[in-house]
Amino acid sequence: MARTEDDNWNITESVGATALGVAMARAAESSCDCPLFTDPYAQLFIEAATEHGWQPTASMTERVRIVGGYAAARTKWFDEYFIAAGANGIDQAVILAAGLDARAWRLPWVDGSTVYEIDQPQVLAFKADTLTAHSAKSAAAYRAVPVDLRANWPKALQEAGFDPSTPTAWSAEGLLPYLPAAGQDLLFERVAELSAEGSRIAVEALGPNTFDPEYLERRREQLRRAGIDSSGPDTADLWFIEERADLTEWLTERGWEVTAVEALSLMERYDRAPSADDEDLTPRSVFIEARLPLAGSPA
Ligand code: SAM
Repeated sequence: MARTEDDNWNITESVGATALGVAMARAAESSCDCPLFTDPYAQLFIEAATEHGWQPTASMTERVRIVGGYAAARTKWFDEYFIAAGANGIDQAVILAAGLDARAWRLPWVDGSTVYEIDQPQVLAFKADTLTAHSAKSAAAYRAVPVDLRANWPKALQEAGFDPSTPTAWSAEGLLPYLPAAGQDLLFERVAELSAEGSRIAVEALGPNTFDPEYLERRREQLRRAGIDSSGPDTADLWFIEERADLTEWLTERGWEVTAVEALSLMERYDRAPSADDEDLTPRSVFIEARLPLAGSPA
């Protein structure tokens, strides 16, 4: 499915449906014997989409199964990031491309926290309708910011009450391949402009060679071997396959203190390492956490 500069979507189409894929993975993890986290909302989102006539294809179900361990480790890593940020006094969070992320409802936010979520208007409307239908109560003050991340989202965020003079915990999970390279640069320039000293950001970044043609071909071949219909839409068809700035370097050059862990290491840490067969289908991501030091703190 070709992407265009100003395309938009609802929850069941194009990039929107990838949020349902993540919800499927979170629902599966939540119901396994020894889950890394429990997300009771994930299943509610799947059921609500199904009631609206959505059905995951067999290929999507299989793909979600294959990357289930990756999605679980990723979710746990971002959960821990937000909990640590709160414990360190940050009470303003911005979830970029929130999709069906239910952290505002399920994490133990410290008193007085506010969570802002940015995503496409139709995606956030589906999410709000579903949560309202189940009388879900957020665990922090919640502000939806329905706007495209290629548009002037800083304005929309500040109109929703965001305070750029207070430290923020930002997250970008499952987002970057869906933005063009220039859009990614602009996103982080804007995040940096809106970040007071003491802010943090957690990013699922593209690892080196993510878009290497040989790797992409091996990935397609492995999808075929796994019986996944290669003529159907693949998430890779929704990516902007363009080389990106190295985010670790980019943030470091601008004064952020960066730590990074590769996807496979993270999966091992959480006992979710992929089988040899599934390794090429595991995204080649790097999980980056960066902190903007407070003035006067030791270098
Ligand atoms: N971060 C969420 C999570 O991990 O559950 C959702 C991840 S999902 C793979 C990708 C999300 O990015 C979708 O909800 C989609 O609507 C959102 N997204 C992608 N590009 C966007 C854009 N330009 N503006 C707003 N949202 C966008």
